[in-house]
Amino acid sequence: MTSEFDLIELIFESFPAPRGVEVGIGDDSAVLESGRFDLVAMDTLVEGVHFRRDWSSSEAIGWKALAVNISDIAAMGGVPGAFFLSLALPSPLEVQWVRGLLAGMKEAARELMPDGLVVSVAGGDTVATSGPAVVTITALGSSPEKGPILREGTKVGDRIVVLGELGLSAAGLAIARKPEVAASADYPVVWEAFQRPRPNIKAGIMLGLAGLPSAMIDISDGLLQDLGHLLKANQVGAYLESAKVAVHPELMALEAAGLGSAFEWIFAGGEDFQLLMTISPEKMVRFKELSDEEGWKIQELGEVRPLTEGLKVVDRDGVPIQLKSQGYTHFEAP
Ligand code: ADP
Ligand code: MG
Repeated sequence: MTSEFDLIELIFESFPAPRGVEVGIGDDSAVLESGRFDLVAMDTLVEGVHFRRDWSSSEAIGWKALAVNISDIAAMGGVPGAFFLSLALPSPLEVQWVRGLLAGMKEAARELMPDGLVVSVAGGDTVATSGPAVVTITALGSSPEKGPILREGTKVGDRIVVLGELGLSAAGLAIARKPEVAASADYPVVWEAFQRPRPNIKAGIMLGLAGLPSAMIDISDGLLQDLGHLLKANQVGAYLESAKVAVHPELMALEAAGLGSAFEWIFAGGEDFQLLMTISPEKMVRFKELSDEEGWKIQELGEVRPLTEGLKVVDRDGVPIQLKSQGYTHFEAP
């Protein structure tokens, strides 16, 4: 198995038929069922920027490539259905590595999607490159009937809520960078979050169906940066109480080991792909019922304020906290 066409054949055989697609892999274009998909998201992973082969197996890289894409669909309250896969791979092809990549994607599709919902490949492109490997996925999805949940829609007085745990993936990156200081095996939760982030796809879909958040975003570049995007889209400010943030014990242990700061990982670390949303006080009641039913771990971190108040993070005593970095930005000097 070495040629482009063998590889396409392998991809074709590896995945089930996607929903909402009349003609998938094999023709010049895919043909989608009309009216089926209204959401499109694309994310690229570049070797050396988003992953390193000595830090992650190809299974983990494939998992992540699909996870980050379906996360973007779920962050609109939508249901992922099909995806397109562009592979730029160094020649000669390392077949085992690619098999792992595809297996990881399949595993993420199976494990992250709610029972009974399939997300699968509908097409793509395959090329050889003399540069680093590049994996690009374009995901398609469908909005809930009430319409997608946008970044826009927040009102002053809305509560700011995060679903799930933050800072884990960034702490895992710190371990990968300094394996001589902390062994990954000693921090299984952090390491797993770094290797295979688990966006809560089901929660995104359910929140979309229920129409609960006034605005929603997945946290890919850090809590403060992504909250900043949401606030900017709505021309509002926010008040965040750092004492309300959940700090995983492994983050505390890693901080004690000298690997970095738990607060920096939580507020400025990215790639946890947890859902950040604003919810009106009236809808918080139903939201809390739903999260109890579903067993979601929710963090109610603060409140949306007028623009003039800016984004303020305060400590236990209400004193503003200064953080070194606000998150990751491409093309920006660190
Ligand atoms: P063309 O020359 O028309 O671009 P290709 O040979 O690139 O056609 O692709 C043939 C078929 O295989 C198309 O349906 C395309 O969507 C699919 N395909 C190519 N590469 C991939 C890939 N990496 N993942 C999924 N489908 C792919
Ligand atoms: Mg092509």
